[in-house]
Amino acid sequence: MKKAFSERIVQEIRGTVLRDEPMARHTSLRVGGPTDWFVVPTDSDDLQSLLDLLGEFEIPFLVVGGGYNLLVRDGGIRGCVISLERFDLLDREGAVLVHAGAGVENAALVRFCRDQGLTGLEFLGGIPGRLGGALAMNAGAGGGEITDSLETLVVVKDRTLIKKERNQLVFGYRFLHLEPGEIIVKASFRLTEGDPEEISDRMKSFLEKRRATQQVGYPNAGSFFKNPPGGLAWRCIDGAGLRGSRIGGAEVSTVHANFLVNRGGASADDFLALAARVKEQVREQSGVELTEEVRIVGVDLQQ
Ligand SMILES: Cc1cc2nc3c(=O)[nH]c(=O)nc-3n(C[C@H](O)[C@H](O)[C@H](O)COP(=O)(O)OP(=O)(O)OC[C@H]3O[C@@H](n4cnc5c(N)ncnc54)[C@H](O)[C@@H]3O)c2cc1C
Repeated sequence: MKKAFSERIVQEIRGTVLRDEPMARHTSLRVGGPTDWFVVPTDSDDLQSLLDLLGEFEIPFLVVGGGYNLLVRDGGIRGCVISLERFDLLDREGAVLVHAGAGVENAALVRFCRDQGLTGLEFLGGIPGRLGGALAMNAGAGGGEITDSLETLVVVKDRTLIKKERNQLVFGYRFLHLEPGEIIVKASFRLTEGDPEEISDRMKSFLEKRRATQQVGYPNAGSFFKNPPGGLAWRCIDGAGLRGSRIGGAEVSTVHANFLVNRGGASADDFLALAARVKEQVREQSGVELTEEVRIVGVDLQQ
């Protein structure tokens, strides 16, 4: 008789395998119901074994980074959540190329570049998360985006590693096109040689600017909405008088109007209802159609 998936996954995967893992533990908003499976593969072979197994049993999967841009619904995630946090390669090749694994924390990548005397990614230092998530979101700040210095991206799909050059990629504001099922495993950046002290100063100045505007004091996912063309989301939200607006435990931050914060005990439903209110009132007040920057995933609670 064919062994059940639950037996096979614990036997065949060397990395961490968790059952019914609350996603609230893995998202910066601190909300989200359980995922059926949460797996942290040890390396590429382990990831491949996992993907084979998921394919064989037709189990859907979602890859996550640090969960800093994720709103997981209260019913959780049916299928498997994969974290690549052990894909922590950091390597320099020649004068200006840096290779990094999808699981490397943005801050660690930026520190590595500073220590190597390489400039170009300083703005990324204060953006929480891991490289895979930063690339999938085309994360950016202070006029820079992670795709600016990207040279190549390596994704895995259907047992194949695919290397994509920057000019083959389609990306834009907080957006990178990935085919369904493609998982970013590593990337390479072409940087510029620079003075480590100056790099350090630039990193500090990015961090200070953030501290001044983003210390909201409660769990959040950064900017909840994308800036509309030619405008600023926080200004639209402020203009609609929504600062401090609250549903359940979810609140429009009084410090930064484009941050929705968890004031304690919020559910994903609270955030979804608050986001809907914000969109409706901004539309009514200024005609602007806000769209979420935060990725909303998972299923609603069964009634
Ligand atoms: C306080 C605060 C400040 C922030 N400031 C900024 C900012 O200035 N600029 C900015 O751009 N963002 C900002 N963010 C949002 C967030 O930090 C970024 O979007 C970050 O890049 C998300 O990375 P992550 O690893 O947490 O990804 P996650 O939130 O875990 O995932 C984001 C998306 O990427 C996908 N993904 C993750 N890893 C992979 C992979 N290996 N392969 C394929 N897809 C993958 C996920 O499925 C999901 O769709 C902020 C967030 C917070 C909490």
